[in-house]
Amino acid sequence: MKKTADNIAKVRARIQQALHKKHENKQNICLLAASKTRNPAEIRLAHQAGIYDFGENYLQEALPKIKALSGIEICWHFIGPLQSNKSKEVAEHFAWFHALDRLKIAQKLHQHRPANMPPLNICIQVNINEENSKSGITPSDLNRFISSLLPLSHLQIRGLMAIPEPQQSQDRLESTFAKMEALLQQCQQQFSELTLDTLSMGMSADLELAIAHGATIIRVGTAIFGERN
Ligand SMILES: *Cc1c(COP(=O)(O)O)cnc(C)c1O
Repeated sequence: MKKTADNIAKVRARIQQALHKKHENKQNICLLAASKTRNPAEIRLAHQAGIYDFGENYLQEALPKIKALSGIEICWHFIGPLQSNKSKEVAEHFAWFHALDRLKIAQKLHQHRPANMPPLNICIQVNINEENSKSGITPSDLNRFISSLLPLSHLQIRGLMAIPEPQQSQDRLESTFAKMEALLQQCQQQFSELTLDTLSMGMSADLELAIAHGATIIRVGTAIFGERN
């Protein structure tokens, strides 16, 4: 199907437009395809259209797909919430984990990361709108949380990730992304021993706004693969 390739071309054009508006041409945006519910054939099509990064939310769903696609070069990201008893598989099969918000999970990922693999890339999920029920570290706890991760040498802390509260006005969403950008800078100043080069934020509906505020990885599902069933 040519549809996937067309969709990806459209998303790439949106990315270019957003960078152009920012007068930015150095900023490197990683387009990560959020591939939950998509089968290996759909993922293969996206890969043929030039996508190398895929994000999965559920381990039971992801592992068979990773196996089925082991013949092609894919960088796998785990982008969903993780239960501690599933940490080992994530440490063994993924290059990135985007939703870290508990020390216990971090310790298990560190412990189970195979010695022959590079450190697991980590984004800390921030509860940026301070929602009661939401996962993520609140901004005021962030420095303490990062400090607790520093001894875990099999993890490489790359930056921050957010899933903004849905149905915000454009203005509020913009200030949410701006807060994330400022937080990353603040963490980088606090922890000069780390290279915090990653802001994982922006999805199909709001990727332009995220890029305007420094997103480096955008996680896009619907705009690439179409509506989910
Ligand atoms: C599904 C998902 C996305 C992609 O959402 P779309 O609106 O389909 O682009 C991004 N991030 C996470 C964590 C997701 O679960």
